[in-house]
Amino acid sequence: MKIGFIGTGVMGNAICLNLLKAGHELWVYNRTKAKTDNLVTQGATWCVNPKTVVEAADAIFTMVGFPRDVEQVYFGENGILTANVKDKIIVDMTTSKPALAQKIYTEGEKLGAQVLDAPVSGGDLGAKNGTLTIMVGGDKAAFTALQTVFSAIGSLAQYFGPAGAGQNTKMANQIMIAGTMTGMTEMLVYAQKAGLDLPAVVKTVGGGSAANWSLSNYAPRILKGDYTPGFFSKHFLKDLRIALATAEEMDIKLPATEKAKELYETLVDEKGLGDLGTQGLIKLWWQ
Ligand code: NAP
Repeated sequence: MKIGFIGTGVMGNAICLNLLKAGHELWVYNRTKAKTDNLVTQGATWCVNPKTVVEAADAIFTMVGFPRDVEQVYFGENGILTANVKDKIIVDMTTSKPALAQKIYTEGEKLGAQVLDAPVSGGDLGAKNGTLTIMVGGDKAAFTALQTVFSAIGSLAQYFGPAGAGQNTKMANQIMIAGTMTGMTEMLVYAQKAGLDLPAVVKTVGGGSAANWSLSNYAPRILKGDYTPGFFSKHFLKDLRIALATAEEMDIKLPATEKAKELYETLVDEKGLGDLGTQGLIKLWWQ
């Protein structure tokens, strides 16, 4: 399939390598051009802006950082929706606002495009290994048409309903991660203060009913002093803010998620450590 990909950072770049490996033709654009160099070496074609990507490809994927980046890529100068998108499939994989996914769907549909929101879970390793979980909302026929693409980059792609349903599922995912990240962090702080053997604690706790992805993937990075992203803390804070704002619209309170947001606000906004991976939360206790 002729695929366009906009946003080749930690996640997008690894996904693109898997698309090339699966034999898809690829056109790429990223704000910082150097982050596409390895893909061009592997056979992808560089485009000067999102509009040019749309002109070359049949299915166009975006995976940028924040909702404001999504707005720019879709609605900005030379953005996706300034191109002729008739009969194209457009997929936003950024973790973004459900309401923005609905806006892109509505505007894209008016122009004859099929639109999906398809955020992912599985982290940098899932992107590298092609084992992402993909949560999809929007046009069901487009979801069906993209099965071979999804299977090249993930182990599970699940359709949840109309536009925004993928983003809402991802928000549910992030609400769960808020608990596992804060739990894993406080568990290590406590175990260290109690004088326990931390690698042994991580192994033992991870073998019982407290086992979870944050523990098995991020605790070992913390014990090695590795705070590289992974998943940027600034992006996780963005997700917690979207989840809580959407929950407020639904008239529900999520006090534990609210507390996680406050902790990440301290890390990102007060301490300026938003470029650390989410495991950097432990720096609120450990120097
Ligand atoms: P990232 O490394 O910052 O990648 C985002 C990329 O988008 C960057 O290369 C950035 O370019 C590019 N970009 C931003 N605005 C752009 C624009 N207007 N035009 C063109 N390119 C633009 O972040 P990431 O870790 O790949 O995460 C991407 C998204 O996936 C985020 O929404 C994140 O929450 C979500 N996510 C991440 C993970 C994870 O584990 N990393 C897992 C699931 C979901 P520059 O290089 O110029 O900044």
